[in-house]
Amino acid sequence: MIKRHQTRVVQVGPVAIGGTAPIAVQSMNNTDTRDVAATLEQIRRLAEAGCEITRVAVPDLEAADALAIIRAQSPLPIVADIHFDYRLALAAIVAGADKIRINPGTIGGMDRLRQVADAARDRHIPIRVGVNAGSLSQAILARYGGVTAEAMATSALEAVAMLEQCHFYDLVLSIKASEPLLNRDAYQLLSEKTDYPLHIGVTEAGTWREGIIRSSVGIGVLLAMGLGDTLRVSLTADPVEEVRTAWSILRALDLRRRGAQLISCPTCGRTEVDLTHIAVQVEERLQPLTCPIKVAVMGCAVNGPGEARQADVGIAGGRGFFLVFREGRILRRVPEEEAVDALMAEVEQWCAEQHAQTTEPAQHNPQDKNPERE
Ligand code: SF4
Repeated sequence: MIKRHQTRVVQVGPVAIGGTAPIAVQSMNNTDTRDVAATLEQIRRLAEAGCEITRVAVPDLEAADALAIIRAQSPLPIVADIHFDYRLALAAIVAGADKIRINPGTIGGMDRLRQVADAARDRHIPIRVGVNAGSLSQAILARYGGVTAEAMATSALEAVAMLEQCHFYDLVLSIKASEPLLNRDAYQLLSEKTDYPLHIGVTEAGTWREGIIRSSVGIGVLLAMGLGDTLRVSLTADPVEEVRTAWSILRALDLRRRGAQLISCPTCGRTEVDLTHIAVQVEERLQPLTCPIKVAVMGCAVNGPGEARQADVGIAGGRGFFLVFREGRILRRVPEEEAVDALMAEVEQWCAEQHAQTTEPAQHNPQDKNPERE
């Protein structure tokens, strides 16, 4: 069990961040915000993949105008990402942003920051203070002799102090670096000094493969320490991949349960089926599922069901055939070419049964059978 660091709660549209709320999955659109149709299409794809909050760049007033139309049709709450220009922050708030992300130190002085804080307070929306290792001020860099965890935490706390001077306390903090260990140290320092909810991630993590690994390590370390109330995986890739990766990380740490977790064996000299090909097919077909289920694809019938006992359903190969099993118990034998379909049929049945169990007894005790801790 992971004991989460206690934080206060802020509300981003219908999504709570902090406290005991489930760790929220975020992403960021990489469309041109002024292209309303393309941005909305991407938001819908993100929502289907399980994204709960998305962020859009607001680089000019035209984008802020577009945000108003996007917000009205978006299935997800939207964070407006603002750099430097307080007028864009004000325009994004008027456009209906559910949260804004700014760096208070670069928004143009206390008077302008106060105007942004007042507008956010009037609309009851939070502000994320986003500090990145690459954008620390020269003064901070000189004070700490470079980019260090202390420098990052101080920068974030100074930004918090600026907003608190504006009597604004509805904050979420992020303090991202691209190196997972620097990231860990910075977030740990910050969490010791504040109870504002933390938005975690590894910034500029990289392309699909490298980025997934760096993010999984960096975010995973923080989550295992109990830190993080919302997360964004940053990939140089389709943002839908960010959402899928985020869910995989949360599932791996048993922090949230959504969708299928695939367990597959590495294959060895006992494997007599084309397991690699079959595992890839199964992974693709499991992708759209939201039902929390563990599925195993194992190479041999001797060890398969036993090794994958924690799986809800699975298949284990023999010579040209597979055994279909459920919770370690063998159900039947099917030819290799029918194995994927047979497994998927079992998956669908298991999910349907779980759904029936969670809806009926829930009328008496909603805690009893709910497979998602949400
Ligand atoms: S499940 Fe069987 S085939 Fe797969 S790695 Fe283990 S022993 Fe080898």
